[in-house]
Amino acid sequence: MSTLHPHTLAIRAGRQISEFNEHSPALYLTSSFLTESADEAMRLFSGELSGNTYSRFTNPTVSMFQDRLAALEGGERAIATASGMAAIHALIFSLLKAGDHIVASQSLFGATLQMFSNLLPKFGIEVSFVPLTDLSAWQAAVKDNTKLFFVETPSNPLTDIADLAGLAAIAHQHGAWLAVDNCFCSPALQRPIEHGADFVVHSATKFLDGHGRVLGGAVVGPDALIEQIYLYVRTAGPTLSAFNAWVLLSGLETLFVRVEKQAANALALAQWLETHPMISRVYYPGLASHPQHELAMRQQSAGGAIVSFEVKGGRDAAWRVVDNVSLISRTGNLGDVKSTITHPATTTHGRLTPEARAKAGIGEGLLRISVGLEHVNDLIQDLTHSLAVEA
Ligand SMILES: *Cc1c(COP(=O)(O)O)cnc(C)c1O
Repeated sequence: MSTLHPHTLAIRAGRQISEFNEHSPALYLTSSFLTESADEAMRLFSGELSGNTYSRFTNPTVSMFQDRLAALEGGERAIATASGMAAIHALIFSLLKAGDHIVASQSLFGATLQMFSNLLPKFGIEVSFVPLTDLSAWQAAVKDNTKLFFVETPSNPLTDIADLAGLAAIAHQHGAWLAVDNCFCSPALQRPIEHGADFVVHSATKFLDGHGRVLGGAVVGPDALIEQIYLYVRTAGPTLSAFNAWVLLSGLETLFVRVEKQAANALALAQWLETHPMISRVYYPGLASHPQHELAMRQQSAGGAIVSFEVKGGRDAAWRVVDNVSLISRTGNLGDVKSTITHPATTTHGRLTPEARAKAGIGEGLLRISVGLEHVNDLIQDLTHSLAVEA
């Protein structure tokens, strides 16, 4: 399977066909599985026999999703979880312990930042936050007990790019792992393991589903370490449901055509925004004007589907745009085939202090669009209109 092109793997990898010869992946909605005998039950539960016993441990539909995602990321194995946060939780609680240390980028998804700042310290795991793009700061933050580097690239919402090979080299030099939250690009545009990352974590809720239907997550990595995470998940219970795995399997089948087209739309939209007199700055890694354009294009096959931009006139002007779009959805979710718009300063980053927001570069006039599959001319028309509304 792995010699096949990723476009093919997205559709074919991980398929298991039952005695009924179904063509589409089957949905196994069952909490437990029968055994043939007391002896077989004993050997299944002890692990001497492999097979399904209970869906908190394994389920064939979930296994198909895991195998397909692992193939797409170029990793040995994947473990699926109930959400993206459950994936990050499982990675850290299974492989780290009290007394360990993490180096993470400052610009992280809100709940990840919350977990790292407030939850992990309660369990004796310490986190140092460093600027995403400053390799020397990562190097300087390493301690004797550093076990993990954790990063998102491109960052949300300003699309800063982390140098994955550079980070992997520093982490490995100190015996630490590099974990990359690959939510923004998905394996359609970026495969961090090829750049030296040890783990990829996903919120499958975003581009992997692509239609805003279900929550899900996953960790991809080396077999022996994913086994440890699996043993944690089957005990602690943040398991992905079979139904959600079944939905996500069909999401993966169209991943490449969706994300490649969404990225093409995003580039066209970003280029148009750059010429608009009401816009003072556009953040999009696919633009030549992006300060890390070259690095982005080395790691990613396209700029992605997330475009952020600064509207002249601060919060009032930005809110006017949000309030006056008629096509683009006003919602915080991203990765959907439907374009969405958010005002980060008052939503996703609203809990930060004004000083912390300013330091992170999240201005009052900043807007973020997750570009979908509508025709780009309709998106441009929607924004042309909403940018023209007077106070
Ligand atoms: C949404 C998101 C998460 C969390 O995923 P859930 O599925 O909502 O738990 C983590 N990281 C990033 C970058 C995200 O966008």
